[in-house]
Amino acid sequence: MERSPLVLVIDPGHGGADGGANVGNVFESSLNLSIALKLDSIMGLFAVPTVLTRTGEDIEYPPEANTIRAKKVFDTKRRVKLIESIPNSVLISIHQNKFPDDYPHGAQSFYSRNPGSEELAKNTQKLLVKILDPQNKREAREIYSGVYLMKSVSCPSILVECGFLSNPRELALLQTEEYQTKTAVCLSAAFLNTCDILEEVNGKG
Ligand SMILES: [Zn+2]
Repeated sequence: MERSPLVLVIDPGHGGADGGANVGNVFESSLNLSIALKLDSIMGLFAVPTVLTRTGEDIEYPPEANTIRAKKVFDTKRRVKLIESIPNSVLISIHQNKFPDDYPHGAQSFYSRNPGSEELAKNTQKLLVKILDPQNKREAREIYSGVYLMKSVSCPSILVECGFLSNPRELALLQTEEYQTKTAVCLSAAFLNTCDILEEVNGKG
């Protein structure tokens, strides 16, 4: 049986009324978007079909969503609906981490319980450690149950915390084009390396 091609859904976390974590005027939402757009360009070189859950900083909300909370809820549900409407989708959600003290550092991949997710997260983690930071001891983990988007989608899905805004060295790196590109390369290569497994689980779904 011929399989239809996988569609990579790239989700730049936050955006619109929700900037996500920040340090000073550096907001997670814009770093997430920069890395997502680079990932999208790289996947284009491999002719992998992609869909972005947002392509800019602005998000349109209905008039009844008149609090930040209501806007976030509306936007998360919009993303879930979009992802669920795409056949053969695989989700990579891009975020940044933040901690109260400045020591923690290193990218980390989290997976949902959907088949294929753990393999994709482990391949992603391996590359993030190898290419971005060989000192990074973090491992791929199952996502905490409170992340609505991740528990609501039915496709293979991972969430990647690309780095810690609270770590000054990582914060500086994350703002450079070079580091953003390297991060996007890790995500692309992990997806391409995991395609066989992802096609198999999606074919069964
Ligand atoms: Zn986030």
